[in-house]
Amino acid sequence: MQKTLNLFNQLVDTFLKDEAKNPVVKPVPPEELEQHFDILLNENGMDDIEFQNALEKIVLHTPKIASKQFYNQLYGGRNNYAVLGDLLAVVLNTSMYTYKVAGPMVGVEKAIIEKSCELIGMQDGVGAMAPGGSMTNLMSMIMARDWKDDQARFKGIQKQLIAYTSIDSHYSIVKNAAFTGLGRDNVRHIATNEKGEMIPEMLELAITKDIAQGFMPFYINATAGTTVLGAFDPIEELSQIAKKYQLWLHVDGAYCGASFFSHKHRGKLKGLDRVDSFSYNGHKMLNTPTNCSFILTPHKNALYDSFSSEASYLFQKDSDEYNFGKTSMQCGRRNDALKFWTLWKAIGTNGLGAMVDHLFETADTAFEYVTTHPDYSVHSFPGSLSVCFNYKGIDAKTLSHSLHDEGVSLVSYAELNETSFIRFVNINTMNSNEDVLNFFKTLEEHVEKNKEHLLSYA
Ligand SMILES: *Cc1c(COP(=O)(O)O)cnc(C)c1O
Repeated sequence: MQKTLNLFNQLVDTFLKDEAKNPVVKPVPPEELEQHFDILLNENGMDDIEFQNALEKIVLHTPKIASKQFYNQLYGGRNNYAVLGDLLAVVLNTSMYTYKVAGPMVGVEKAIIEKSCELIGMQDGVGAMAPGGSMTNLMSMIMARDWKDDQARFKGIQKQLIAYTSIDSHYSIVKNAAFTGLGRDNVRHIATNEKGEMIPEMLELAITKDIAQGFMPFYINATAGTTVLGAFDPIEELSQIAKKYQLWLHVDGAYCGASFFSHKHRGKLKGLDRVDSFSYNGHKMLNTPTNCSFILTPHKNALYDSFSSEASYLFQKDSDEYNFGKTSMQCGRRNDALKFWTLWKAIGTNGLGAMVDHLFETADTAFEYVTTHPDYSVHSFPGSLSVCFNYKGIDAKTLSHSLHDEGVSLVSYAELNETSFIRFVNINTMNSNEDVLNFFKTLEEHVEKNKEHLLSYA
């Protein structure tokens, strides 16, 4: 093991130095991978030096998601405390289904869930982890289905259940409708206002229409941080509608749900104490290694009804409360809690709040920059981590690809209402205001250098 750890340290050292110097790797076309890297598997092993070289080359050519030029997706950055926790989790390799084999690691996961519930004001909250926000969203839909149609889990779905989500919500909602037996066509996509927030009146209209036609509305998904614009649906108003028509209200906080850690920004989630379930990711705003996703609910019975099964070969000791396999989608399960616990323990709740504050502050810097510079047109709104813009009218897809192909920066583009634009995602808490401004400077230099080509796409 010692030898392995030495090699690990060496590889990481080389990688970090390279990341600082070359923040973006030029992409290799996927069909050329085998030409560039020693990637195929052989009958015989290789000697240590060859092995190290093959590994190093692959590592150095892997996209650098924590570099100062990565703004491509809703995750990024690298938190040292969280990395430490995850490395330990790999070495310890506990599986999280029972207290017998996971021991204090169950307590670690439980502490995160309980403290999270306390902070959002969820009374008697319980929770679980799943591999990502799509999967915690799925857990919420399963609980809601079983709550509204109590025979569904035994006999299969019996009722004409209808789910509601905004047109700007994450694509996992419709996939989950298929997985739960509901069917993709039984999801209603509710209109949003110009900022991308669900319009409550439109939701109520859709619900009453469905009831009149004999359907059974059962689930509303509200989004805290929509995928493109980073908008927050009005949870409090939606909770009144949920209550009036007896629907389960879930809040998908995969992107920006972690805002509840900040005193300054938790107002964006007003009404969160009244929801039926809430999911948030540690691997997005809080820069914890992926995956790290939690679902919280005040309905302990719903969690058990939907997810517990007896298994005498597995659950042999200790109460259900400590055997997390009883409330999980999985059987064996990776320890995804420790990395978030090491971060939280080290910097405290206030430290997590400061990370959230920092992200909104640096996003403001980016937003202000694009709104005050005449060469930019802006498509997003203040107070969002996603800053959407076009530069000198250049086609967003062309600009995004060009920045990547030349190894300048990784930033994606999005389309909304038939307009496409660059979506700059400000999610790396290691970046300062200066780093963020430097992204724009680099982009402008790149366009200047390639103006003949790029401006022809304006
Ligand atoms: C990222 C995201 C998801 C999916 O989360 P994963 O962890 O990537 O599965 C769901 N909803 C929203 C709003 C997201 O931004």
